[in-house]
Amino acid sequence: MAHAVKELFPEVKLAIGPSIADGFYYDFDCDTSITQDDLPRIEKKMKEIIKSKKLFERRELSKAEAIKLFEGRGETYKVELISELENDTVTVYWEGDFVDLCRGPHLEKTNNVKAFKLLSVAGAYWRGNEKNKMLQRIYGTAFPTKDELKKHLDFLEEVKKRDHRRLGKELDLFSLKEEKGSAHELRQPIPPPIRREIENFWLDEHHKAGYQILYTPHMAKLDLWKKTGHLDFYKENMYSPMEVEGQDYEIKPMNCPFHVSIFKSHLRSYRDLPLRYAELGTVYRYERSGVLHGLLRVRGFTQDDAHIFCSEDQINDEVLRVLDFTLFILQTFGFENYDIYLSTRPEKFVGTDDGWTKATDALDKALKVKGLTYEEDPGEGVFYGPKIDIKVRDSLGRQWQCSTIQVDFNIPERLDINYRGADSREHRPIMIHRALMGSLERFFGVLIEHYAGAFPLWLAPVQISILPIAERHAEYCRNLKDTLLKEGIRVEIDEDNEKIGYKIRRATVSKTPYMCIIGDKEISGNTVNIRKRDGENTGEMTIDGLLSFLQNEISNRR
Ligand code: ZN
Repeated sequence: MAHAVKELFPEVKLAIGPSIADGFYYDFDCDTSITQDDLPRIEKKMKEIIKSKKLFERRELSKAEAIKLFEGRGETYKVELISELENDTVTVYWEGDFVDLCRGPHLEKTNNVKAFKLLSVAGAYWRGNEKNKMLQRIYGTAFPTKDELKKHLDFLEEVKKRDHRRLGKELDLFSLKEEKGSAHELRQPIPPPIRREIENFWLDEHHKAGYQILYTPHMAKLDLWKKTGHLDFYKENMYSPMEVEGQDYEIKPMNCPFHVSIFKSHLRSYRDLPLRYAELGTVYRYERSGVLHGLLRVRGFTQDDAHIFCSEDQINDEVLRVLDFTLFILQTFGFENYDIYLSTRPEKFVGTDDGWTKATDALDKALKVKGLTYEEDPGEGVFYGPKIDIKVRDSLGRQWQCSTIQVDFNIPERLDINYRGADSREHRPIMIHRALMGSLERFFGVLIEHYAGAFPLWLAPVQISILPIAERHAEYCRNLKDTLLKEGIRVEIDEDNEKIGYKIRRATVSKTPYMCIIGDKEISGNTVNIRKRDGENTGEMTIDGLLSFLQNEISNRR
């Protein structure tokens, strides 16, 4: 691709072009703007290069030779990259009169490329830094066979259809104004009825699982964040402090310190443990405008956060409980497949060897007891403790990081938290941070794509739509609506002066789970006729029958 672009746009300078998860990209510095419309002619040129059956020839050069080679070709980005390399020699690959810096290995010749497609064009700063020049990035993908390529392109088409930003607009779920290079305007990222369902479910289940529900402040004195160490290791994600009566306050990027201060508000004994605090805590983190992405990356979001304070010998049980709980929550939202990672001690860490071993063993043991397969990520733990990350697979098989369970040796030490043991001595509790959905906003974005906007009944913003066939049926419909509302059903009535076929189509497009069509027959029999969004008719039922039918499905959360 780089060779083709270079032929079509001779003034272009090559930056970098790595392979990525399901394809590749290349960044170009080019005065002419390369657009989506240019992709077919770049592809055509690529096909010519492929047909020419040129060899990819590997050469080893000294650093000085390589710099001279790329300087001579005006490739200033390559020169910059080579200058920073620590090796004495570098490798380049020649293909005809095209040459690129590359570690290799490479295909033998250009006609080894069997199926490829260029996908999109985007802007990207050199080295991802917004102070550098904006380059032009072309994304593409390649496969060993045409069939595999087609399968992948179909998948991408489905991904595009399910994009939560697109569905959010089509289904009127939230309002998002995306402007290039500036912050997004995002109002009510989760529709209030859905948010209430998720929150109530979460709060009820946490209560049942023995958590105390907390509501903590959104601001704290800057000193607190100094004590916790956030000002040292988390500063770039925190907003500037705000001065109130001569004191600096900081809007919270995390909930943990508040939960600790509630732990510390009483003398604690071993009999109090484990203490489980849970909060739907809204936190604020500074994210650069370039990385904001719909609901997936936002600046203010609600974590389904909890902290468990326990003794060392309770850690096994607690981790096991959290793991069970996590899977129950994820399964309720229709996620049945996961990838689980256990991250162990990194090079830099706080805490003792013994503590790390015990905590890592506890996480490991809990996973084994549950019979869960997982991968170990050696050295990928946070400096303050080991962790389990659970990534869910959505209905398209895509991976999303949601749940995390982390042991923390840092905060208990820094904030000096203690409990009195059975031996009447002071002990340091173990602290576990855990979030199951992660961020509610992001989780909702994932749910939209997972369900393709067709939410199960308990989560649907409108659960049933009543469609009167003619105006004379409207009053019966209004009474029915009141009856359903009183029973907690989210119901709408479509009284527009339109043909019933049109109304059915409209309700189908909005993915409302059920429609209830009312005409003379239903009114005279005091019944309703229910139609599912997939077109299936459930037949006639009484109004009581309808209510228990809906309530049963809602309480099953299916
Ligand atoms: Zn925490």
